[in-house]
Amino acid sequence: MRELNTQVLVVGAGGAGLALSIFLGDLGVDALTIERHPGTSHLPKAHYINQRSMEIFRQHGVADAIYARSAPRENLGRIRWMTSLGGDGPLDGLQFAAPSILGGGDHAAMYDQKGTTHPTNIPQIRLEPILLEQCEARYPGRILFNHELESFAQDANGVTAIVLDRQSGERMTVRCAYMIAADGGKTINPALGIEMIGDKDLGDFYTVWFAADLSGYIKDDDAVMRRIFHPEKPYRVNSLLTFGPDHWDGRSEEWASNFTRGPRFASVPGERETVTDEELIEDVRGFLKVDVPLTVRRVSRWSLETVIADKMQVGRIVIIGDAAHKHPPAAGLGLNSGFQDAHNIAWKLALVTKGLAPASLIDAYELERRPVTASNVRWSINASTNAYLIMSGIGVVPGESPEKTCERFKVLVEDSFEGETRRAQLNEILNIQRVEYAAHDRELGFVYPDGAVVDDGSPPAKRDPMGHIYYPTTRPGSRLPHAWLTQGDRRLSTHDLIPMGGFALISGANGGRWHDAAAQIAAESGITIHAWSVGPGGDVADPSGQWLSEREIGDDGAILVRPDAHVAFRALGRVDDPAGTLRNAFEQILSGSRAATKTAEPMAANSGD
Ligand SMILES: Cc1cc2nc3c(=O)[nH]c(=O)nc-3n(C[C@H](O)[C@H](O)[C@H](O)COP(=O)(O)OP(=O)(O)OC[C@H]3O[C@@H](n4cnc5c(N)ncnc54)[C@H](O)[C@@H]3O)c2cc1C
Repeated sequence: MRELNTQVLVVGAGGAGLALSIFLGDLGVDALTIERHPGTSHLPKAHYINQRSMEIFRQHGVADAIYARSAPRENLGRIRWMTSLGGDGPLDGLQFAAPSILGGGDHAAMYDQKGTTHPTNIPQIRLEPILLEQCEARYPGRILFNHELESFAQDANGVTAIVLDRQSGERMTVRCAYMIAADGGKTINPALGIEMIGDKDLGDFYTVWFAADLSGYIKDDDAVMRRIFHPEKPYRVNSLLTFGPDHWDGRSEEWASNFTRGPRFASVPGERETVTDEELIEDVRGFLKVDVPLTVRRVSRWSLETVIADKMQVGRIVIIGDAAHKHPPAAGLGLNSGFQDAHNIAWKLALVTKGLAPASLIDAYELERRPVTASNVRWSINASTNAYLIMSGIGVVPGESPEKTCERFKVLVEDSFEGETRRAQLNEILNIQRVEYAAHDRELGFVYPDGAVVDDGSPPAKRDPMGHIYYPTTRPGSRLPHAWLTQGDRRLSTHDLIPMGGFALISGANGGRWHDAAAQIAAESGITIHAWSVGPGGDVADPSGQWLSEREIGDDGAILVRPDAHVAFRALGRVDDPAGTLRNAFEQILSGSRAATKTAEPMAANSGD
């Protein structure tokens, strides 16, 4: 049997696995990625790539390639609620609400001020080939499709995996220091006995992806998302998504329709298996009421799940993406959480495999990511169940007949004071749905209080319970606030101060002693640390004063930022021994903090056999 050695084996080339391969490539880690399918996914699932994910892709030089194929920003601003696209009934073709969404519309300025780059909309079926192209540029010949992980066993020094080449039928042994389960939870979790905790099968959902010329029905150009609700069929809300690839307004060449056939959050035993593609396509025609040909690309069936793995690491196996957490689509946190898992583990793998940090740094991954992703899973289901509030705002009363719903709905859209009141009421209710449409703090404000960080004893930073307003903070564990700075003619973000795979030390005006300390620790440890003083007389200027207002340290203080742009340590002001302080901080950070204790416990060998 052929044998292959690599530092990291990534199992699964879905969004999470591909993103991890890109990050590892930039960090110079020897890695191999295997995928059992012949190519990237054919399922039109994720489409919203949130602001933090786009920042991460910007850091890795991939954002421009994604924007080039995504919906332009002007098409992203709103989600339009309407009864149908066409039809000639009295309640057909009515638009009754259009809140802002996807970091656009009324929220664009807020997003732009707080992030290095903006969120975007690109269907997963078009995103994955872009990520693959980037992976192949970094790892020529090391992304193997048609290769399936069959079994594995781990010992104290590494993991041995048996991989089947599904085309030739031959097997090879891959020996690696770490194996990453980016397999959607299909193979590795069951072998490790990992349990997915939470609710499964919360409803039957369907996606019909089709090509159609809907330009005769859609004239606005500021919405890539539409919710179709018809009072004659309450509870059957249909999401219509613009799928491009060349136009993202009414002229879009392709579309996807996600819907349920009955009430949400209730799975009908056997329905997904028995309903035919033809019936589902008829459903879409019924929703849209359009009189143009629909050329179906694919019909898919899925169930709503809200689960989190009981472990995100077992010894030398680390679990990322849907293998670790499955979300309802509301708030678009599924794939985005997977990208952020990948970003979190990549720099740790790089430092450990290069011998620059102890193995316990890897253990910090679970300490950091599990609370964040568990919270994201709960957030997604709450955002989904809020749909009932919207139904109530529209005028759906449980148990009432569709005729009665139509009567109530007529008032909502009529030109009367009562109609105005109902619309105002609905808009207030829809404003609550910013937990789904504009959860900016969910995107940027997640924190790692425990893990590879040094707690400075300050109280937890303020967070918006509605998840809408993101409050920048440099409290250890938080994402480094973004501010635009200048260096000569060059405009750069605070995030651009972080070297690839290294740390940034950002000081106030009197940072000289901190900079000397950073140089000393870098020389001792072999870790790259770039030191910057920001502000008047510093290495970079802060012309708008945004950084000054967000940094929360004095002129004698310093902030140490990790390779993933999260703050690892800060000193609010002067310390007597900056080199000693920084050395202690690095010891704590690289040991993975509380994780160090965990690794000291004997590690049980796990076998996939
Ligand atoms: C309708 C819908 C809309 C969504 N919208 C959004 C959104 O807007 N934003 C968002 O962030 N998320 C969204 N999601 C969620 C998102 O699609 C998933 O979170 C994402 O696809 C998970 O990616 P992954 O790489 O972790 O797993 P997967 O995409 O499941 O990839 C796992 C890969 O591993 C491979 N594999 C499995 N076993 C093996 C093996 N033994 N050997 C080799 N390879 C193996 C599989 O073939 C697969 O390619 C949506 C989901 C749905 C259903």
